Amino acid sequence: MGLADIQAAIAVAEVAAERAAGSVQLIAVSKVQPAERVLDVLNAGWRLFGENYVQEAAGKWPDWRGAFPDVAVHMIGPLQTNKAKQAVELFEAIHTLDRPSLATKLAGLAQARGTSPELFIQVNIGSEPQKAGVLPEGADEFIASCRGMDLPVVGLMCIPPEGETSMPHFTALGEIAARNGLSGLSMGMSGDFEAAIAAGATHVRVGSAIFGARAYA
Ligand SMILES: *Cc1c(COP(=O)(O)O)cnc(C)c1O
Repeated sequence: MGLADIQAAIAVAEVAAERAAGSVQLIAVSKVQPAERVLDVLNAGWRLFGENYVQEAAGKWPDWRGAFPDVAVHMIGPLQTNKAKQAVELFEAIHTLDRPSLATKLAGLAQARGTSPELFIQVNIGSEPQKAGVLPEGADEFIASCRGMDLPVVGLMCIPPEGETSMPHFTALGEIAARNGLSGLSMGMSGDFEAAIAAGATHVRVGSAIFGARAYA
């Protein structure tokens, strides 16, 4: 495994799904990875990364952006409202817009700054009690309310329930996106990105298959 292998696997999956080459964006999820592993991937030319924690991202990306100015970093972890201001300054996109209070906060920041990261709405596609995201049955209304606040919603994001086949959940997310006229689909991780591409993913979030297992302290 590694960056080149995942790029190759994505290209194969695009062909298998009869999708255009390059239609899937690979987000290299660098959370908790040692700096040298991330630098290897930066030096290999990769420029799109994902992070889960505002604090961690704030500690490393401002420096790396100096050396790699064309880098883009997407927030893919849960976002506390009190970290939203820092987040809009750090990230080109946020994949975890999951509740009205955060939408209101992001809309206020967008108004004040005159710009906003691109936003994906996280859907709790398996309706799991403990999981973040709007419930599938509430998604249409939440999407409409975010649009009503002029937020730049570009797509939907999901994390299927652990231990279940991902495909039906990916398909369900695609249906919600389609009926709401959203083209972005952020779905698929190391274990299921090929299935996600078959189901229409535009952004896959792959961490351990590129960088190796995360060593949590
Ligand atoms: C950590 C994480 C990933 C990457 O997971 P891997 O299994 O290492 O590919 C993708 N998406 C989200 C939301 C994550 O938190």
